[in-house]
Order: sequence, then structure tokens, then C-alpha cells
Amino acid sequence: MTDTTRRAVLAWLAGLGAAAGTGLLAPGAAGASSDVTALRGVTLVDSAGIRPNATIVLADNRILAVGSRDLPLPRGSAALELAGKFVIPGLWDMHVHGAFLDRITLPLCLANGVTGIREMWGFPQIYELRQRIERGEVFGPRLVVGSTIIDGPHSTLPGSLIVATPDEGRQAVRDAKAQGADFVKVYSYLDRPTLAAIADECATQAITFAGHCSDHVAMGDASDLGQRTFEHMYGLPLATSTREAQLRQAIADLPLDPADSFAWFKQVLELERRAAASHSRQKAAVLAKRLRRNNSALCPTMVAMRVYASPADRFANDPRMKYMPSFYRDLWRDQLARWAPVTQEETRQQAEFLKRRMEQVAEMHGHGVEVLVGTDAGNPYSFSGFSVHDELELLVEAGLSPRAALEAGTRKGALTPGAEANLVVLDGNPLEDIRNTRRIHTVLTRGRVLGPAERRQMLADVEKAAQEPFPPVQARCC
Ligand SMILES: [Zn+2]
Repeated sequence: MTDTTRRAVLAWLAGLGAAAGTGLLAPGAAGASSDVTALRGVTLVDSAGIRPNATIVLADNRILAVGSRDLPLPRGSAALELAGKFVIPGLWDMHVHGAFLDRITLPLCLANGVTGIREMWGFPQIYELRQRIERGEVFGPRLVVGSTIIDGPHSTLPGSLIVATPDEGRQAVRDAKAQGADFVKVYSYLDRPTLAAIADECATQAITFAGHCSDHVAMGDASDLGQRTFEHMYGLPLATSTREAQLRQAIADLPLDPADSFAWFKQVLELERRAAASHSRQKAAVLAKRLRRNNSALCPTMVAMRVYASPADRFANDPRMKYMPSFYRDLWRDQLARWAPVTQEETRQQAEFLKRRMEQVAEMHGHGVEVLVGTDAGNPYSFSGFSVHDELELLVEAGLSPRAALEAGTRKGALTPGAEANLVVLDGNPLEDIRNTRRIHTVLTRGRVLGPAERRQMLADVEKAAQEPFPPVQARCC
């Protein structure tokens, strides 16, 4: 903002006074260098409800004021007439891989209205990218970045950091903190003493931990230890099965071939599938109470789980493949060769298993457990940015209301003065049909207005970037 603009805005805010009842200059709003923009005649949809015929005024990436359609605007502000449009807070993808593909992941997120992402496999290059974005050197969504993936012995994940003892777990937490991770990412094979040590060290280091529910620790126990989020619905069917004790014993008795740890993982998943067939509503209610008390959330990544539960070629012709770097094609084919059902009976079983898990997520949400939108982008046919909208649709299919799905996707973001101005302008009402979140007209973030032409250009640039050869990178997925 120039000094003249700033004085005009201050005078305007003073004049706005009690009439609008919403005037508030956000801290630091007068320091940066963008102009004042107003969106007029829009319907605001956020966790506070729905406000038709509103005007929302933004400057320096902050919401300055919210008022009625005829709210007087500061001199020199740019007014966008957007009657008939709907405005929601920027979306968050809470389970992402591949932020390091910055020319692909970042613009795909922004063009799709995703103004914040949680990267689930961090390393120094991504911590630096996070800082460059915050300094304004790179245009991108807000990044919250996990540590490297910390797992127990016999991990299925090449490249993860293996910790075999509680002491090694503690050291991994200290290293993650020192490297710049925003949270510690835990995985499927940590034993209980090691996970407890990680939890304790996280408390000491004032950092949270999140990730897979370990196959060796019940979800309620991991939640009591402080695990903040549980990914991919792993551990949920088991924790709510009437046969839990028996199935956990079966897991403990599973033979493990160190040369083929993935076989073990698939057998555990098969036991989870059986667990889903003996679901107890009562156990679900008790578990929900624990998760709620501990502030643990579920990040089901249904869109990725649906791919793994489908025949390998079901999504292969998705037109969004053109935005993906070519090495993903081979990587995804190899991944699905290990995962995807082949026979008709396997396909039927996996579809049924997915349906039951989705119902369980909706059930937990019904009990007040927080649900997060995550795509596992970087995994087969989960597309940065785009798949957030697929996941929103799947949450509604699972049984959440469109409003609840939207709250999950925006992390209950509010369109109130002082809030960061991360906004998505839609052509249709997402509460009437959640698929309307795909009908994006404009995205506003970091003081920039991405209208239809800008967004088209961004997508065209990604398509071009995807065709360029990429230096060999390790597949940092799952
Ligand atoms: Zn993942």
C-alpha cells in the first residue's frame, strides 16, 4: 500500500465505524505493498454460515472489512462486481507429497483454490521452499512440512528413517526439529515403546506428531500418546471391531519375511478388511470420545484409497495426467501392480471394504471427531490441487453434509476481518452441490487475484513443465 492509499484506507475504516460493525485493520496491514480490492454482491459461505449479497474488502492479503452490498469503499480501491458468485475460504490439502516439484505442485494447488498444504514427507529442500514462499520469492500456497518419515524395522517404505529403539526415536525427533520440520511424521511399524518415546520427546521439543496409525499400536492408545492425525483410515476398522483382540493377535503372529515386508503389510490390510465386517457402533463411540478429548483428527485420503481399491487401469485415462511429470506414469503403474485388486472377487471385496471405511469416517465425524481433507497427491491418480475437490465429493458420498465437507476442506476457515485473505470465488453454491467447489471463478491469495485468464495460463504452464525431463528423484510417496 502506498502512503496515500494507507491514509485513505484508515480514513475509510474510521468512517465505517459502527455502521458496518466490522471495520478492523489487520495487524501489519499497512506495511506491505498491494492495493485494496473489494468483491461486491457475493454470497459468503464459511463456518459462520451463509451471508448473501455481501461485500468483502481486502488489502495486503488481509480481510479488512465485511459488510452489505452497498458498503462504501475506500477511494481508489478496485471493485470486482461478482453478483451471483459464492466465496469460500481457501482450501487446505492436509496430506500431500511432491511439494518439491514446485513448478507443478504449487501452481496446481493455487489454480484449484488450495492455498495451504501439509507436506507429509519433508526434507531440507522443501523446508527451504517453504521459507522462499513465505518471503515472496516463490508464488505458492502456505506449506506445513513434516519431518522425514520415521518408521520401525522392516518398513515397506524405501528411504524412510528407521528407528529401532526408544532412544533412536528420541534422536529422530530432535533431528527433525533441528532440520526445520513443522511436525514429526510417524509410520506403520513403530512399536509402542518407541512411539511413546517419540511422543514424549515431541512434548519436550514442543512439536506435534502425525501420520499412520502404527500396526503395532491401537488408534486410541496412539491418540492418548498425542498423535495429532491418523491417515488413510488405517487402524480404524481394527479399533472398532468386535474381534479386535483376536485380529491383533493374528497380526502379532503374522510371519514376517524381511525380504518382502510389503507382503506383511498387505496381510495386515486383509485383517483390517475382515475387521470392517465386525464393526461395533459402541466401540466407535468410545473411540470417538478418546480422539475428541485428545484433539486427534482423521485424514482419510479417500481419493487415494479409492484408487488402491480399484483395478489398476480404472483411472489411467484421467485427462489430468497431462499435468503430471512423465516419471509419475511408471511410478504409479509399479505401485498399483503391488496394490490393486485383480480378480472380480478381489475388486468386489475392496470396493466393499472402502465403502465400510468411508461410512466409519462419517460415523466418527457424527461423533464430533475432526475430519481433514487430504489427497495423498503424488500417489496413483491423486492430482495436486484437483483431487481436493474429488475428496470433498467423496466425503459427502461417505455421509458428511456439504457444509461439513467444506468445513473439513477449509479447516473451519472464516471470512472475517483480520483473517488472511485466502479466498475462492465460485460460480455455484457448494452447499447445494459440493461439486460446485470445482467451478472456480477466481482465487485470491498473497495479495494476488487469479482470475479465469491467469488460472488458464497457470495450467498451461504446468502442462508445459510436466513435459520437461525431471532429474531423477526418489519417490517420496505414501
Ligand atoms: Zn501419504
